[in-house]
Amino acid sequence: MQKQSELYRGKSKTVYHTEKKDYLIIKFRDEISANNGIKVKQLSRKGTLNNKINYFIMTKLQENGIPTHIEELISKNEVLVKNLKMIPVEFVLRNLAEGSLVKRLNIQKGTILNPPIFELFLKNDVQCDPMINESYCETFGWINKNTLIDIHMITLKINKVLSKLFSDIGIILVDFKLEFGMIDNQIVLGDEFSPDTARLWNKENMEKMDKDLFREDSGEIIQAYESVGYRLGIEFN
Ligand code: UDP
Repeated sequence: MQKQSELYRGKSKTVYHTEKKDYLIIKFRDEISANNGIKVKQLSRKGTLNNKINYFIMTKLQENGIPTHIEELISKNEVLVKNLKMIPVEFVLRNLAEGSLVKRLNIQKGTILNPPIFELFLKNDVQCDPMINESYCETFGWINKNTLIDIHMITLKINKVLSKLFSDIGIILVDFKLEFGMIDNQIVLGDEFSPDTARLWNKENMEKMDKDLFREDSGEIIQAYESVGYRLGIEFN
Protein backbone atom coordinates (compact mmCIF):
# COMPACT_ATOMS: atom_id res chain seq x y z
CA MET A 1 0.00 0.00 0.00
CA GLN A 2 1.18 3.52 -0.80
CA LYS A 3 1.21 6.77 1.19
CA GLN A 4 -1.29 9.30 -0.13
CA SER A 5 -2.37 12.67 1.30
CA GLU A 6 -1.45 13.64 4.85
CA LEU A 7 -4.26 13.08 7.33
CA TYR A 8 -2.62 14.42 10.47
CA ARG A 9 0.79 15.69 11.60
CA GLY A 10 1.43 15.15 15.31
CA LYS A 11 4.44 16.07 17.43
CA SER A 12 6.54 13.07 16.41
CA LYS A 13 4.47 11.09 13.89
CA THR A 14 2.70 11.87 10.61
CA VAL A 15 -0.34 9.87 9.52
CA TYR A 16 -1.14 9.37 5.83
CA HIS A 17 -4.16 8.07 3.94
CA THR A 18 -3.59 5.06 1.69
CA GLU A 19 -5.52 3.95 -1.41
CA LYS A 20 -7.76 1.94 0.94
CA LYS A 21 -9.89 3.95 3.37
CA ASP A 22 -9.61 1.30 6.08
CA TYR A 23 -5.82 1.58 6.27
CA LEU A 24 -3.39 4.35 7.18
CA ILE A 25 0.39 4.68 7.16
CA ILE A 26 2.13 6.12 10.22
CA LYS A 27 5.57 7.66 9.75
CA PHE A 28 7.71 7.98 12.88
CA ARG A 29 9.77 11.17 12.47
CA ASP A 30 13.18 11.92 14.00
CA GLU A 31 11.70 14.45 16.41
CA ILE A 32 11.22 14.39 20.13
CA SER A 33 9.04 16.85 22.00
CA ALA A 34 8.03 17.56 25.57
CA ASN A 35 6.06 20.08 27.57
CA ASN A 36 3.12 20.00 25.15
CA GLY A 37 5.37 20.68 22.15
CA ILE A 38 7.27 23.62 23.67
CA LYS A 39 10.56 21.72 23.85
CA VAL A 40 11.46 20.05 20.53
CA LYS A 41 14.62 18.43 19.16
CA GLN A 42 15.69 16.54 16.03
CA LEU A 43 17.32 13.24 16.93
CA SER A 44 18.75 11.15 14.14
CA ARG A 45 17.45 7.52 14.07
CA LYS A 46 14.77 8.14 16.67
CA GLY A 47 11.97 7.45 14.15
CA THR A 48 13.43 4.05 13.32
CA LEU A 49 13.94 3.12 16.96
CA ASN A 50 10.38 3.98 17.97
CA ASN A 51 8.83 2.42 14.87
CA LYS A 52 10.58 -0.88 15.51
CA ILE A 53 10.07 -0.92 19.26
CA ASN A 54 6.39 -0.08 18.76
CA TYR A 55 5.96 -2.80 16.13
CA PHE A 56 7.64 -5.35 18.40
CA ILE A 57 5.49 -4.47 21.44
CA MET A 58 2.22 -4.30 19.50
CA THR A 59 2.95 -7.68 17.92
CA LYS A 60 3.59 -9.17 21.37
CA LEU A 61 0.30 -7.74 22.60
CA GLN A 62 -1.51 -9.16 19.58
CA GLU A 63 0.01 -12.58 20.31
CA ASN A 64 -1.47 -12.23 23.79
CA GLY A 65 -4.97 -11.66 22.46
CA ILE A 66 -5.07 -7.86 22.56
CA PRO A 67 -6.36 -6.39 19.28
CA THR A 68 -4.07 -3.64 17.92
CA HIS A 69 -4.14 -1.48 14.81
CA ILE A 70 -0.81 -2.86 13.56
CA GLU A 71 -0.81 -4.51 10.12
CA GLU A 72 2.68 -4.50 8.67
CA LEU A 73 6.09 -2.85 9.06
CA ILE A 74 6.63 -1.23 5.68
CA SER A 75 9.94 0.60 6.10
CA LYS A 76 12.38 1.46 8.85
CA ASN A 77 10.23 4.38 9.97
CA GLU A 78 6.77 3.53 8.62
CA VAL A 79 4.04 1.10 9.60
CA LEU A 80 0.74 0.17 7.99
CA VAL A 81 -2.18 0.28 10.44
CA LYS A 82 -5.92 -0.14 10.51
CA ASN A 83 -7.93 3.08 10.43
CA LEU A 84 -9.64 3.34 13.84
CA LYS A 85 -12.34 5.69 15.04
CA MET A 86 -10.18 7.14 17.84
CA ILE A 87 -11.47 7.77 21.35
CA PRO A 88 -10.35 11.32 22.37
CA VAL A 89 -8.89 10.16 25.69
CA GLU A 90 -5.39 9.15 26.84
CA PHE A 91 -5.29 6.25 29.31
CA VAL A 92 -2.39 6.17 31.76
CA LEU A 93 -1.44 3.19 33.91
CA ARG A 94 1.03 3.66 36.76
CA ASN A 95 2.93 0.96 38.65
CA LEU A 96 5.35 3.38 40.35
CA ALA A 97 4.90 7.07 41.08
CA GLU A 98 6.59 9.54 38.70
CA GLY A 99 5.80 12.59 36.59
CA SER A 100 2.49 14.38 36.97
CA LEU A 101 1.29 12.08 39.78
CA VAL A 102 4.28 13.02 41.94
CA LYS A 103 3.63 16.72 41.27
CA ARG A 104 -0.11 16.45 41.92
CA LEU A 105 0.16 14.56 45.22
CA ASN A 106 3.67 15.48 46.37
CA ILE A 107 4.55 11.85 47.04
CA GLN A 108 7.92 10.14 46.86
CA LYS A 109 9.11 9.27 43.33
CA GLY A 110 9.18 5.51 42.86
CA THR A 111 6.43 4.77 45.44
CA ILE A 112 4.93 1.41 44.50
CA LEU A 113 1.29 1.76 43.48
CA ASN A 114 -0.63 -1.38 44.30
CA PRO A 115 -3.08 -1.84 42.72
CA PRO A 116 -1.76 0.18 39.79
CA ILE A 117 -3.40 3.57 39.21
CA PHE A 118 -5.53 4.10 36.09
CA GLU A 119 -6.02 7.69 34.93
CA LEU A 120 -7.82 9.46 32.08
CA PHE A 121 -6.73 12.63 30.26
CA LEU A 122 -8.66 14.40 27.54
CA LYS A 123 -6.72 14.67 24.29
CA ASN A 124 -6.70 18.42 23.88
CA ASP A 125 -3.42 20.21 23.20
CA VAL A 126 -4.94 23.69 23.68
CA GLN A 127 -6.03 22.77 27.22
CA CYS A 128 -2.79 20.75 27.83
CA ASP A 129 -4.57 17.38 28.08
CA PRO A 130 -6.57 17.97 31.30
CA MET A 131 -7.22 15.10 33.69
CA ILE A 132 -10.82 13.83 33.53
CA ASN A 133 -12.81 10.95 35.02
CA GLU A 134 -15.50 8.41 34.17
CA SER A 135 -18.30 10.87 34.85
CA TYR A 136 -16.90 13.37 32.31
CA CYS A 137 -16.71 10.59 29.70
CA GLU A 138 -20.35 9.71 30.19
CA THR A 139 -21.69 13.26 30.34
CA PHE A 140 -19.77 14.53 27.33
CA GLY A 141 -20.25 11.28 25.39
CA TRP A 142 -16.53 10.59 24.93
CA ILE A 143 -16.82 6.93 25.98
CA ASN A 144 -19.75 4.91 27.25
CA LYS A 145 -19.58 3.25 30.67
CA ASN A 146 -19.16 -0.33 29.45
CA THR A 147 -16.48 0.58 26.91
CA LEU A 148 -14.55 2.32 29.68
CA ILE A 149 -14.80 -0.74 31.93
CA ASP A 150 -13.52 -2.89 29.03
CA ILE A 151 -10.65 -0.46 28.32
CA HIS A 152 -9.64 -0.56 31.99
CA MET A 153 -9.56 -4.39 31.86
CA ILE A 154 -7.58 -4.39 28.60
CA THR A 155 -5.12 -1.85 30.04
CA LEU A 156 -4.55 -4.04 33.10
CA LYS A 157 -3.95 -7.03 30.84
CA ILE A 158 -1.48 -5.02 28.75
CA ASN A 159 0.25 -4.01 31.99
CA LYS A 160 0.57 -7.65 33.04
CA VAL A 161 1.99 -8.76 29.69
CA LEU A 162 4.41 -5.85 29.34
CA SER A 163 5.54 -5.68 32.99
CA LYS A 164 6.67 -9.31 32.63
CA LEU A 165 8.19 -8.76 29.19
CA PHE A 166 10.28 -5.83 30.46
CA SER A 167 11.07 -7.39 33.82
CA ASP A 168 12.54 -10.42 32.02
CA ILE A 169 15.06 -8.10 30.32
CA GLY A 170 15.93 -6.15 33.47
CA ILE A 171 13.59 -3.19 32.94
CA ILE A 172 10.87 -1.86 35.26
CA LEU A 173 7.70 -0.67 33.54
CA VAL A 174 6.98 2.41 35.67
CA ASP A 175 4.01 3.85 33.75
CA PHE A 176 2.64 4.20 30.23
CA LYS A 177 0.01 5.93 28.12
CA LEU A 178 -2.33 4.21 25.68
CA GLU A 179 -4.83 5.35 23.08
CA PHE A 180 -7.68 3.21 21.83
CA GLY A 181 -10.10 3.37 18.93
CA MET A 182 -13.01 1.37 17.62
CA ILE A 183 -13.56 -0.75 14.54
CA ASP A 184 -17.24 -1.59 14.33
CA ASN A 185 -17.86 -2.48 17.97
CA GLN A 186 -14.41 -3.75 18.83
CA ILE A 187 -11.94 -1.87 21.05
CA VAL A 188 -8.54 -1.75 19.33
CA LEU A 189 -5.24 -0.40 20.67
CA GLY A 190 -3.92 2.41 18.47
CA ASP A 191 -1.21 5.09 18.49
CA GLU A 192 2.13 3.78 19.81
CA PHE A 193 3.90 2.13 22.70
CA SER A 194 7.53 3.27 22.88
CA PRO A 195 10.01 4.89 25.29
CA ASP A 196 8.29 8.16 24.29
CA THR A 197 5.01 7.02 25.83
CA ALA A 198 6.21 4.84 28.73
CA ARG A 199 8.62 5.21 31.61
CA LEU A 200 11.23 2.45 31.67
CA TRP A 201 13.86 2.12 34.40
CA ASN A 202 16.95 -0.05 34.30
CA LYS A 203 16.48 -2.52 37.19
CA GLU A 204 20.21 -2.72 37.84
CA ASN A 205 20.80 0.94 38.70
CA MET A 206 17.30 2.54 38.40
CA GLU A 207 18.54 4.71 35.52
CA LYS A 208 15.92 6.06 33.12
CA MET A 209 15.67 4.63 29.59
CA ASP A 210 12.82 6.78 28.27
CA LYS A 211 11.70 10.28 27.29
CA ASP A 212 12.36 11.62 30.80
CA LEU A 213 16.02 11.80 29.65
CA PHE A 214 14.86 14.48 27.21
CA ARG A 215 12.32 16.13 29.54
CA GLU A 216 15.03 16.47 32.19
CA ASP A 217 18.12 16.83 29.92
CA SER A 218 19.64 14.03 31.91
CA GLY A 219 21.23 11.58 29.48
CA GLU A 220 21.79 10.01 26.06
CA ILE A 221 18.32 9.48 24.61
CA ILE A 222 19.18 7.51 21.47
CA GLN A 223 21.60 5.27 23.34
CA ALA A 224 18.91 4.49 25.93
CA TYR A 225 16.18 3.77 23.34
CA GLU A 226 18.62 1.59 21.41
CA SER A 227 19.46 -0.31 24.56
CA VAL A 228 15.73 -0.98 25.20
CA GLY A 229 15.46 -2.28 21.62
CA TYR A 230 18.54 -4.49 21.84
CA ARG A 231 17.35 -6.02 25.11
CA LEU A 232 14.04 -6.81 23.41
CA GLY A 233 16.04 -8.53 20.67
CA ILE A 234 15.18 -6.06 17.92
CA GLU A 235 17.48 -5.69 14.88
CA PHE A 236 17.83 -2.05 13.87
CA ASN A 237 19.76 -2.44 10.60
N1 UDP B 1 2.47 10.40 28.38
C1 UDP B 1 2.42 10.41 26.99
N2 UDP B 1 1.87 11.49 26.36
C2 UDP B 1 1.33 12.53 27.03
C3 UDP B 1 1.38 12.53 28.45
C4 UDP B 1 1.95 11.45 29.09
O1 UDP B 1 2.86 9.46 26.35
O2 UDP B 1 0.82 13.47 26.38
C5 UDP B 1 3.05 9.24 29.08
C6 UDP B 1 4.36 9.59 29.76
O3 UDP B 1 5.45 9.34 28.93
C7 UDP B 1 4.34 8.67 30.95
C8 UDP B 1 2.87 8.50 31.28
O4 UDP B 1 2.17 8.86 30.10
O5 UDP B 1 4.87 7.40 30.59
C9 UDP B 1 2.41 9.35 32.44
O6 UDP B 1 2.77 10.68 32.19
P1 UDP B 1 2.51 11.82 33.29
O7 UDP B 1 1.04 11.96 33.51
O8 UDP B 1 3.35 11.55 34.47
O9 UDP B 1 2.89 13.16 32.58
P2 UDP B 1 4.27 13.88 32.24
O10 UDP B 1 5.19 13.71 33.39
O11 UDP B 1 4.72 13.20 30.99
O12 UDP B 1 3.84 15.28 32.01
